[in-house]
Amino acid sequence: MLEVKNIEKHFGSTDVLKNISFDLEEGQTLAIIGSSGSGKTTLLRCLNFLEIPNGGTIAVNDEILFDASQIKSKKDKDLRDKRLHFGMVFQSFNLFPQYTALENVTLAEKMLAKDLPDFKQNKKEIYNKIEEHGKELLARMGLADRVNHYPHQLSGGQQQRVAIARALALKPDILCFDEPTSALDPELTGEVLKVIKSLAEEKTTMVIVTHEMAFARDVADTVIFMDGGVIVEQGDAKQVIENPQEERTRQFLSRFS
Ligand code: ATP
Repeated sequence: MLEVKNIEKHFGSTDVLKNISFDLEEGQTLAIIGSSGSGKTTLLRCLNFLEIPNGGTIAVNDEILFDASQIKSKKDKDLRDKRLHFGMVFQSFNLFPQYTALENVTLAEKMLAKDLPDFKQNKKEIYNKIEEHGKELLARMGLADRVNHYPHQLSGGQQQRVAIARALALKPDILCFDEPTSALDPELTGEVLKVIKSLAEEKTTMVIVTHEMAFARDVADTVIFMDGGVIVEQGDAKQVIENPQEERTRQFLSRFS
């Protein structure tokens, strides 16, 4: 479903990603682990073109979405639709403070609906449908009673669950998370991890940058360990985390035991 080949990224003269290649099957969860500064966030941002790689290709469902030899700028208009293949959940939620939970979840869908040929005639019906979908997603996140709350009226864990519902709203092929629990107090981390675990059980295809090793071992199918901008080790999540083959992976994981 997702094929990443030979991705390179540099900022000025600093090489941040070097020859990154991996595949992800439909319905599987991939965890990206590694120490601070190893390039995990940059890799995730390259996947949905928030950063433009300097080399390599990215394909989804056998369609090459990105080829560095052809696309040089994130403003490239071709990238707008291609971004829709990926949903993104950030560390710091990034909700719009002036909108309710439901408005945050439905905003993008309503904007895209304006391009529908029957939008003018059926606007009310289309918006009702989008709102029903938004409410369903919030209910799935355990937030049925919070649809009209504003972000400042919600806990961090609830805000992050709204952000997950928002990322799911456009039905992306792949849901990406950048350290989704690292801005949360420990008592709120569990509720967000539980939601992500249930998405994995429903076979949502996901890429998760995380420092939660037990979560990665138990929920992810595969793991990539990065260090210094390269993939040092990748494979079955349990195997890599419980029985790493590379010395650098062993050293990194020993900090968590
Ligand atoms: P952390 O776990 O701390 O979030 P990370 O593994 O996600 O770290 P990245 O945030 O991808 O690492 O950063 C990798 C390297 O790229 C770091 O050395 C960082 O300083 C550098 N970097 C990231 N973004 C930029 C940028 N926009 N301009 C210059 N350097 C950058």
